[in-house]
Amino acid sequence: MSFLEVKNVISGYGKIPILHEINLHVNQGEMVGIIGSNGAGKTTLMHTISGLLPLMSGSITFQGKRIDQLPPSDIARMGLGYVPQRKNVFAELTVLENLEMGAYTLKKQKEKINEMLETFPRLKERIGQKAGTLSGGERQMLALASALIVNPKFLLLDEPITGLAPQIIQGLIDMIVEIRDKGTTVIWVVEENPKEVLKHADRVYLMDSGIIKMERTGKQFLEEENLEELFLGH
Ligand code: ATP
Repeated sequence: MSFLEVKNVISGYGKIPILHEINLHVNQGEMVGIIGSNGAGKTTLMHTISGLLPLMSGSITFQGKRIDQLPPSDIARMGLGYVPQRKNVFAELTVLENLEMGAYTLKKQKEKINEMLETFPRLKERIGQKAGTLSGGERQMLALASALIVNPKFLLLDEPITGLAPQIIQGLIDMIVEIRDKGTTVIWVVEENPKEVLKHADRVYLMDSGIIKMERTGKQFLEEENLEELFLGH
């Protein structure tokens, strides 16, 4: 039994399907990359798995239980943490208040917040600053910390390093790899610099126009001579 099983999933907006019969699985402890060009449907897939977007047909199973009819809050409570690409922090709240929001269901809130501040020392320095005024990299760290605070078993990361300064990217990649190495299962959505993710991903799905076009190991994709062309959907 796979940790996550997406079967024949069709979903979209209004009556228009964007995902056409998606099939994929994620094993426990894996880091799985979802790559594909702009508009391939990667974000739509993340919204569908996390329960934000209803399915038109198909099924999604997480740890053996159907989740495709559940509200996002129930899916989150089962251990799925979702870090969207945009609007992933409360801009008007401070760093501390954001972490408190992330931790509000926990008993040992202070302890967990302190743990996150140890892991992300940059956030500790900016504890009283409003999230909307953080740099892109700091905001991404805060989004990650807010998701990690509840110890999710499974983390969906939508383009966590896109658009960030090169000097901050490596640090974030190392952190995400460490999270996987400590046992959290990860889906990492990539649009830019796929090579950085392919190096670390156990398996990778290439999406194009709402379908899964290819599945390979990260290493196989790295060795693919026509990677750029494949990626751009030519
Ligand atoms: P990007 O990284 O550019 O967001 P993506 O692979 O994540 O690319 P999606 O955001 O999932 O792609 O978009 C897939 C398709 O769904 C696009 O054609 C987009 O225009 C359409 N789409 C996305 N959100 C909506 C929405 N709220 N209503 C209608 N169509 C949408």
